[in-house]
Amino acid sequence: MSRLGIFGGSFDPVHYGHLLLAENAREQYRLDRVIFVPAGQPPHKQVPPLASAEDRAAMLQLAIAGHEAFEISRYELDQTGVCYTVQTLRYFRTQYPEAELFLILGGDMLKDLPHWREADEVIRLARPLAARRPGWEDWDWTPFQAIASPEQIEQIRSGLIQMPLAALSSTEIRRRVAAGRSIRYQTPRAVEQYILTHGLYRNSVVSSAASPREPDCSAPPRPNR
Ligand code: ATP
Repeated sequence: MSRLGIFGGSFDPVHYGHLLLAENAREQYRLDRVIFVPAGQPPHKQVPPLASAEDRAAMLQLAIAGHEAFEISRYELDQTGVCYTVQTLRYFRTQYPEAELFLILGGDMLKDLPHWREADEVIRLARPLAARRPGWEDWDWTPFQAIASPEQIEQIRSGLIQMPLAALSSTEIRRRVAAGRSIRYQTPRAVEQYILTHGLYRNSVVSSAASPREPDCSAPPRPNR
């Protein structure tokens, strides 16, 4: 049975924090493959990605080039509207009925997981593998009791991915590009060059204003992820 890591995100743009997370998850959990799943319209973000789906996929391709265990899925990019993690995992379960699925994510996302759409089903379909991000503090795990057994909670808590804390974020990269500052060594050189040659993020303004959501890609919209 193969072990597949599913790693979703906006990747707007991909950076070394993402790559370290994927590689450490692969190594520590002996994953045969890590599938990066760039979001079309991420359910948890207030503003849609700034770079186009094609640009984000192209940057991911440059970032993972040469890694035999890494690949990209266009599943969410090719859907119209918001895709929820539970739908994406059901898709991979159908594609790989024999595989053991793992869901790779940062600690900020894990904390929010109990509020996602069909969160109990999410953790039934794939075991969450999370890593600390700077600013991580152990939190109140009570909300997990509604979606997971005590054994599952203990498995998630004790199974954190060990990796160097990387204070890197796509937001910070976009800010730096807009301010004309260096992004060298925050993302692979090929991604940096892609951003510069395609003029990405130069006019990016960081806004917290919510923008209208597109409908869910396969079901009526609901407030949670
Ligand atoms: P933004 O700054 O736009 O919110 P981001 O840097 O958080 O973006 P995403 O594409 O939203 O990047 O993240 C995809 C996944 O990678 C999420 O699960 C997130 O928690 C995780 N992640 C992102 N950056 C890091 C990091 N530096 N260390 C560990 N995990 C990370």
